[in-house]
Amino acid sequence: MQQYDIIVAGAGPGGSTFVRCLADTDLRIALIDKATFPRDKICGDAIPGTAIRVGRRRSRDYWDGLPALNPLRRTRGFSPSGTILDVEYVNDGYTCPRLDFDQYLLEQALTYPRLDTHFGTKLKNLVRENGQNIATLSDGTQLSAPLIIGADGAHSVVAKKLTDTKMDRNHYCAAVRTYYRGLTDIKDDRMMFYFLDGFLPGYFWIFPLKDGLFNVGFGMLSRQVSERKIDLRDSLDRIVAESPQVKSHFAHAEQVGKNEGFGLPLGSRTVPRSGDGFMLVGDAAGLIDPFTGEGIGNAMMSAEMAAAVARECLASGRLDAKSLRAYDKAVTKKMGFDFKMKHLGQRILADRPWLINGLMWLASGNRLAHWALKKVV
Ligand SMILES: Cc1cc2nc3c(=O)[nH]c(=O)nc-3n(C[C@H](O)[C@H](O)[C@H](O)COP(=O)(O)OP(=O)(O)OC[C@H]3O[C@@H](n4cnc5c(N)ncnc54)[C@H](O)[C@@H]3O)c2cc1C
Repeated sequence: MQQYDIIVAGAGPGGSTFVRCLADTDLRIALIDKATFPRDKICGDAIPGTAIRVGRRRSRDYWDGLPALNPLRRTRGFSPSGTILDVEYVNDGYTCPRLDFDQYLLEQALTYPRLDTHFGTKLKNLVRENGQNIATLSDGTQLSAPLIIGADGAHSVVAKKLTDTKMDRNHYCAAVRTYYRGLTDIKDDRMMFYFLDGFLPGYFWIFPLKDGLFNVGFGMLSRQVSERKIDLRDSLDRIVAESPQVKSHFAHAEQVGKNEGFGLPLGSRTVPRSGDGFMLVGDAAGLIDPFTGEGIGNAMMSAEMAAAVARECLASGRLDAKSLRAYDKAVTKKMGFDFKMKHLGQRILADRPWLINGLMWLASGNRLAHWALKKVV
């Protein structure tokens, strides 16, 4: 049995950021991932400003070594009736393939000298015994630590073993994405969002990456997907081929790769995110923005908050549920109100295309509404 101070399950943005935030300590940390890196992650590849800011809080030049980061300046939204709304960014916005982005974050974590990695092997079982988390990996390795961080994504084993939280389709999205080359009339610094009749609440996106590549995808609330028996992969192909607002961009395009889907646990409900000897970050904690579907920034921000609490609690030797609740409180304080408002917005706009049409029309011609929208994106 290998003994550590902290086991981190998952080396995505949440897990890597957590380790990087403790780089100035001498804690013994084990980082586990079922994948071997570099690995891809099904995603829209939009890197929110919150993610950029978490990196810059580590060092001002944090992102200088990531040339795949594509800066964006604006967003174009299409309402179901075709009203176009252009918004210039006031905040940072980027795209970057997750293959490069997650590898870069991991390399930042790997500079931590007391880190052991266990890659290409799954966290299979987890039990708590005498104040220790005993993790069994699929290759038979056993690790033990008083604190475990669940950064193992939407199907978190840590969350399943240590909480009673169940998947709830009202607070869960399903999305598919693929890649294309050769799209026409799309600017390489502009994200495109389409709210399409029949596919609400949700949206279709075209996000430009570097070197002429585009991430193209479509996501909806899981309850609607199952109630209306929507096949997301099939719908993505239909939108590209048939939607009047979309299809002209794809007339000479070539698809690169398959339509691939994955789940998005939304932050619109409050669930336990810590307990005796554990904290959950990112998707494992259900922290995806209920309106935009962005989760990378919140995964990194929650990891930063969990690292701050871990640092204090390990120093005082108090890793009980009551002490670690400071993390839940910090997450709710930082993100709770925003999640509630966005969930409300999502519920109000769901199945009301006339309201989306009206709001986008209003925002496109009204400077105050336009200014308010700029603050949101
Ligand atoms: C189609 C789609 C589009 C999206 N688009 C965007 C977007 O454009 N912008 C954005 O900000 N967010 C987007 N998201 C959400 C975003 O992908 C997640 O919020 C983000 O990846 C969360 O980071 P994380 O570190 O919590 O989890 P992950 O990135 O999922 O990392 C979890 C890690 O844990 C590992 N793991 C899982 N289970 C185990 C196990 N049992 N044992 C060991 N390791 C394990 C995995 O291999 C993985 O490396 C999208 C999601 C989907 C599905």
